[in-house]
Amino acid sequence: MTEEFDLAVVGAGALGLAHALAAARLGKRVVVFDRDARANGASVQMTGLVTVAGHARGAWARRAKRSRDLWAEVCAEAGIRIEHEGLAIVARRPEAATALEAYAATDPAPGSAFYKPDDAHALFPQFRGDIAGVFWSPDELRVEPKSAIPRIAGWLEETHRVAFRWETAVSGFHEGVVATSRGPVAAKALVVCPGSDFHTLYGDRLASASLIRAKAQMLRIRYEEGFELPGAVATDLGVPRMPGLEGLDGVDALRSRLEIEQPDHMRHGIVLIAAQSADGTVVVGASRKLDAAPDAIQSQAVDDLILDELAAVFGRRPKTIVSRWIGTYAYSSDRPLVVEAPEANVRVVVAASGAGASAAFAIGEETVADLFG
Ligand SMILES: Cc1cc2nc3c(=O)[nH]c(=O)nc-3n(C[C@H](O)[C@H](O)[C@H](O)COP(=O)(O)OP(=O)(O)OC[C@H]3O[C@@H](n4cnc5c(N)ncnc54)[C@H](O)[C@@H]3O)c2cc1C
Repeated sequence: MTEEFDLAVVGAGALGLAHALAAARLGKRVVVFDRDARANGASVQMTGLVTVAGHARGAWARRAKRSRDLWAEVCAEAGIRIEHEGLAIVARRPEAATALEAYAATDPAPGSAFYKPDDAHALFPQFRGDIAGVFWSPDELRVEPKSAIPRIAGWLEETHRVAFRWETAVSGFHEGVVATSRGPVAAKALVVCPGSDFHTLYGDRLASASLIRAKAQMLRIRYEEGFELPGAVATDLGVPRMPGLEGLDGVDALRSRLEIEQPDHMRHGIVLIAAQSADGTVVVGASRKLDAAPDAIQSQAVDDLILDELAAVFGRRPKTIVSRWIGTYAYSSDRPLVVEAPEANVRVVVAASGAGASAAFAIGEETVADLFG
């Protein structure tokens, strides 16, 4: 063992990189381990939307905003393209419009607003058919995760002296020594950001955290040349799942109506999110199936349900399906963030929701402040 690091981080996904950045900014010498040759988990399988709207009011909303600002900073410094900004939630039903109008009235962010149908059609001509309004949030960012996540790692290495040990699995930490598949490494502290592998390290501590895996089906599609989204796009289906809208007028009625009118979408946990890339293609998701050991089977019926919801907003199905994939992320129904401290100098951090990358940079700051003061 030649060098002793101040902090060892397990996992080069969004969470691990966020912790590495926060520690490096404090002047700490950091090493990041990942068992793969490059980040290959949820952070590159995801939509890449940094969400601000819809988080629970109070601490979560502040964390989301702080994290979004850090994402913007990192993108600027690391030369990562922001594909687009903002999120339009299209209300297809009056109940969704009621809920979104009530949410807009809570003034969640400067520039956010609810537009009634006439204004919504004028502002967002892409949305066809009967819509009951659109909620617009200006703050969301979208990055292309497959290129953004490796770029953040490269930038941390180049500008913050963060060391990366790829294809190196970590199996333990004892008395300042990280046990890895490529030999021991000395470090004063350890942060484990294992994504959906919450069994390997400190599995005993995580066993009581009611974590499970969520399988999501995703597609990349293409409409005709010139098709342009105003920002990311969501629909009614997402409204009952947003913690920040809980208890608002219209939400319960909307949920009941969705159960009756779109039972298959509800059964497969489908929430439409569409986000565009620089080449004009659109990433569309996602279903959610909770399973301790998700399979890798992509169901055509589930893809069709996602595409049906897309067609309901844009008036037609896309011309081309470019690709399809399955993503897996850690999920907990009652703890969107699990942080364990099995030892004074060890933290295990699992973002357990379908929006875990959004809050990553703020979570990294919080853990590092807790570890190093
Ligand atoms: C399809 C899909 C769409 C999503 N869309 C969004 C979205 O738009 N916005 C959003 O905010 N969130 C989204 N999410 C959720 C988000 O992707 C995750 O919450 C987040 O990326 C988790 O990051 P992570 O770093 O904790 O985990 P991961 O990205 O999974 O990284 C964990 C890493 O740890 C490594 N690792 C684990 N154990 C070890 C070990 N013992 N030794 C060495 N390496 C180890 C793994 O190899 C892996 O690279 C989506 C998820 C999916 C699957």
